[in-house]
Amino acid sequence: MARKPNVVIFPSPGMGHLIPLVELSKKLVLAHDLSITLIVPSLGPPSKAQTQVLESLSPGSINHILLPPTNPSDFPAGTRAETLICLTVAQAVPALRDELKLLIETSGKPVALVADFFCTDTFDVAREFGVPSYLAVLTNAMTLSMLLDLPRLDEEVSGEYGDMDSPIRFPGCRVDVLGSDLPDPALDRKDEAYKWFIHNLRRTNLAEGFIVNSFTELEGETIQFLQENVVSGNQPIYPIGPIFQSGSSNDSADPSGCLKWLDTKPTGSVVFVSFGSGGTLSSEQLKELALGLETSQQNFLWVVRSPNDAAANASYFNSRSGSNPLDFLPEGFVERTRGRGLVVPSWAPQMQVLSHVATGGFVSHCGWNSTVESIVNGVPLIAWPLYAEQRMNAVLLEKDFEIVLRPKAGENGVIGREEIARVVKGLMQGEEGAAVRERMAKLKVAAAEAVTEEGSSTKSLGELVSKWKKGH
Ligand code: UDP
Repeated sequence: MARKPNVVIFPSPGMGHLIPLVELSKKLVLAHDLSITLIVPSLGPPSKAQTQVLESLSPGSINHILLPPTNPSDFPAGTRAETLICLTVAQAVPALRDELKLLIETSGKPVALVADFFCTDTFDVAREFGVPSYLAVLTNAMTLSMLLDLPRLDEEVSGEYGDMDSPIRFPGCRVDVLGSDLPDPALDRKDEAYKWFIHNLRRTNLAEGFIVNSFTELEGETIQFLQENVVSGNQPIYPIGPIFQSGSSNDSADPSGCLKWLDTKPTGSVVFVSFGSGGTLSSEQLKELALGLETSQQNFLWVVRSPNDAAANASYFNSRSGSNPLDFLPEGFVERTRGRGLVVPSWAPQMQVLSHVATGGFVSHCGWNSTVESIVNGVPLIAWPLYAEQRMNAVLLEKDFEIVLRPKAGENGVIGREEIARVVKGLMQGEEGAAVRERMAKLKVAAAEAVTEEGSSTKSLGELVSKWKKGH
């Protein structure tokens, strides 16, 4: 029997990178009869969340190889998450080379290597073996536009982007962003993380194409503009979204029983509150959020992490809190909100929560996977960006797609309890909530259409795969 063409996929550390690349893998196997080898670097031992995802894959069609983890204590304390990701990837390159060599000797040459933005160092290895590389931009076309434009800004702008007087309109985009909305690594140009950011940006031209987790009906104009004016035809952009977590119907994925709790609540009555796989709030912000949810009088399901006053992505590499997050809630909060609210420590089966009929709103950090999962379920959002490219996503969702309400922070940068109560109530009961819900419902339909047999994203992925198979 002829071997199936094999694609090597290399996700950088972080659940937000692993989950969509695993989902892409499943799609490539099921719809296109490819085989996948996930080669996975990790910073420290793999997290429970990461292991669960990898172990749920059926070996044979999707194999995974865990590379020897890097040791977090080898890096100076205080090194930013983005730098740690890039250092981990750079250190994994020799092991990737060995694995690729072995793979070629035993199973033949892969038809492609797909890696996310932090992993452009892997493109050199792919090139050594004559394997074409593709950049998976696991977010939207607006972020791709920013990535492609930033080398220009890097040359033209002196000083920090956060201090720029005028807003920026990235090529092909319909809305402006402020310099301070740019991803965290771009906000301190002296930091090592910015150097890595630019390093990866300058190497995007090594990719044979860009895979974007967006779809024509959502960002067609931007994609078309980028394709016609920014990148050459030799670097096609493939909008193949929505790629989203398929979720598991397994009870073990819901140790807190939040799905059973949702079963007891009326349709559309619960606001889900979660800040992605690693987002954390300050102690003060955590308290205000608790009191805001309490004041709103709405049903809520809240995934709580222990606060961190130093960083908003403190749980990025493990998703879990060291201490019990419930200990940080205001005294008596759990008792006072019992029945109406459920707090779940660190992790919930998000996709199942969002697809549950009882869920009617989502307070989200606007990570792109969370956003996509909300779109495919038609759940409107309250935008609460924390780090990475989330501030840009929030602008896109608020100003362009108009599917979020956005609370305002006070002068101290903290969003107060009254403001939280106001937007939560507004989303669940107000006219402003009804308007964003209606637009979200339309996007849900468009997202579903994009992945039908004749859909735009199905077609785009088909083109990409046929290119791979031709080179096979
Ligand atoms: N996720 C989850 N349960 C949680 C928190 C996160 O299943 O309690 C999943 C979520 O469904 C999404 C991913 O983790 O698929 C988070 O990705 P996103 O891009 O939203 O944010 P990041 O974690 O990268 O900041």
